[in-house]
Amino acid sequence: AGRLEGKIAVVTAAGQGIGRAIADRFAEEGAQVWASDLDAAKLDNPAFADARVLDVTDTGAVDAYAGEVGQIDVLANVAGFVHHGTILDCDEKDWDFSFDLNVKSMHRTMRAFVPAMLHRAKNTGGTASIINMSSGASSLKGAPNRYVYGATKAAIIGMTKAVAVDFAARQLRCNAICPGTVDSPSLQQRMTELGKKVGSYDEAFDSFLKRQPMGRIAEPREIADMAVYLASDEAAFVTGTTMVIDGGWTL
Ligand code: NAD
Repeated sequence: AGRLEGKIAVVTAAGQGIGRAIADRFAEEGAQVWASDLDAAKLDNPAFADARVLDVTDTGAVDAYAGEVGQIDVLANVAGFVHHGTILDCDEKDWDFSFDLNVKSMHRTMRAFVPAMLHRAKNTGGTASIINMSSGASSLKGAPNRYVYGATKAAIIGMTKAVAVDFAARQLRCNAICPGTVDSPSLQQRMTELGKKVGSYDEAFDSFLKRQPMGRIAEPREIADMAVYLASDEAAFVTGTTMVIDGGWTL
């Protein structure tokens, strides 16, 4: 039997990259997966129990969605956006957009789903699990040109610990995952854009690799395997943690 047999899981930004890998792995391990993304066309795994558009910046849509889904065991908050630059490149609009999509989105989904997760944990006698996608670029490490991104990902660690401590006694666990650099469509896009500035895609890719102690970046599946662990009963005593998966980048 799969490691997530009998579990009901919600995954945001499940269309590509890390979110997609998590949704795919959850389904592979036997979970009933509710997959959503801004772009429904990307949600093309027939193993998903439900696949639809959900904009995590839309409070009304998130609340309506949670009402329809009902009780769940696992909430994986993956949606996020990388703003490039220092404080001097970040005006208030950029700040607000990043905090809305990266941080307030998780406030919305957690607020909408926590009551149902507490019920579910009580009914099953197990634990419910929230998994928030943070980053090594957060309170863990100051990464160059990731001013507001790093601030949002640090905020995620703070809210993760706050939720973990408030609900530990009611068997709701809340953990963050802090990846280093992971191969994903948006990373490829960022390297293509950087390539135009530095000369070529290959040069841009090399500059990413140079920062990597292991000489490579991660595959989305390597992050998804941590999400499977955190979602599963194997992690029943694990809460409030920041699981770093970065090949040594933050060392
Ligand atoms: P990605 O950036 O390639 O894809 C993001 C997905 O989010 C897309 O499918 C997009 O349609 C969706 N999305 C965008 N806005 C949305 C919204 N308002 N509502 C719902 N969905 C929306 O994926 P990725 O690079 O794997 O990043 C996923 C998460 O992992 C992000 O939170 C990112 O910050 C984090 N992360 C990524 C890396 C990396 O190197 N790729 C490293 C650390 C953390």
